[in-house]
Amino acid sequence: MAQLSDDCFAFGGPMMSVGEAVGLITTRVSAIADLETVALVDADGRVLARDIAAPLPLPPFTNSAVDGYAVRNADVPDSAERALPLDGRIQAGGLAQAQIKAGHTARIFTGAPMPPDAETVFMQEDVRIDDSGRIVLPPGLKPGANVRPAGEDIPEGHIALRAGQRLLPQHVALAAAFGLVRLDVVRRIRVAVFSTGDELASPGEPRATSQLFDSNRYMLMAMLRRLGCEVSDLGILRDERNALANGLKQVASSHDLILTTGGVSTGEEDHVKAAVESIGSLVLWRMAIKPGRPVAMGIIEGTPLIGLPGNPVASFVTFVHVVRPTVLALAGSLAEPLLPIPVRAAFTYKKKIGRREYVRASLRRGQDGALEAIKFPREGAGLLSSLVETDGLIELGEDITQVEPGQGVGFLSYADLL
Ligand code: AMP
Ligand code: MG
Repeated sequence: MAQLSDDCFAFGGPMMSVGEAVGLITTRVSAIADLETVALVDADGRVLARDIAAPLPLPPFTNSAVDGYAVRNADVPDSAERALPLDGRIQAGGLAQAQIKAGHTARIFTGAPMPPDAETVFMQEDVRIDDSGRIVLPPGLKPGANVRPAGEDIPEGHIALRAGQRLLPQHVALAAAFGLVRLDVVRRIRVAVFSTGDELASPGEPRATSQLFDSNRYMLMAMLRRLGCEVSDLGILRDERNALANGLKQVASSHDLILTTGGVSTGEEDHVKAAVESIGSLVLWRMAIKPGRPVAMGIIEGTPLIGLPGNPVASFVTFVHVVRPTVLALAGSLAEPLLPIPVRAAFTYKKKIGRREYVRASLRRGQDGALEAIKFPREGAGLLSSLVETDGLIELGEDITQVEPGQGVGFLSYADLL
């Protein structure tokens, strides 16, 4: 487990910016060191534990980039067409039997090894065949054209994949191209997930008239799984300090992170704060973020706890900015900063200076083809439809006070957040 000191998230100010919060998390959370080995087919989404140096160059041998005719550079015509007799045929996977003779050309196919001494390939579309069966080469092709030299992609020994890389399909492809069959990865981060609140019923259980079905827990578990975590679904804890404290304490030693939703505001029925204080230490962040409200960060027996707000949209947004960097830091993953893409606002909006706001928005193409963001018409932090019917979040920085149609804004796609 990642053992953190009790005061590791302590800070002085009344209100923490999103940037400060992420900075604190990434510097204070220590990565777990446990590794496991997985088959290549199971490596997608895992965090690579060791650097990988290319055990062979890519491509491994010099080969033709096209279907065509291979020649020596000395035989590439520079001012007039030149007809060369055909000598040899090399297929992909085949071998060049002999070196290419001066003044001759060999038929060659994409991916086939270049015969010794051949340095240039003419595309088959660019040549013609004369009456005596010779290959007529056009003038002006650059010597060396249409050839992929060994190692041009990646030279042997180059550190091609870094420890901490969260593996995407293209990284798995690279490992396969090196002939690797197993990879050392960081073991999955174990996260305990609780919802809190007397008003919640789990789907599949009876719901009293004053209850709603717990949606956050399913959203958070899905988000965690997308980040590669092993999730323990610990159900709903009731709004009662001792029950909460017992529930949290029981799971601390067997998990790397405890995640709760609800009960972190300052109302009398918000008991997460008191529960954590009774068994560990707690910092309540008044983060300068909307939607958000306070996010609790604490330590129970060395295991970090994050208490997200209960409103679904606030829970979603604070997950992205607090839980995501924490999970990445626990896994020793390379930083994956969220980079909003520039789009044009097609809405008007006013906001308070000094806090960061996230506006749920859909994208469409404007008449000039540029991407425009349309704001979801309503703003409540409890509206699940606002997350379902939009494409992502417009990030409005601390300094912005208003948005006018046509203004450039930054857009974070939901697809990029996990
Ligand atoms: P709280 O943060 O506990 O004050 O809750 C704020 C709002 O979010 C209340 O309307 C709760 O009913 C709602 N809420 C809390 N937890 C969940 C949950 N797990 N799923 C859906 N809504 C929730
Ligand atoms: Mg509550």
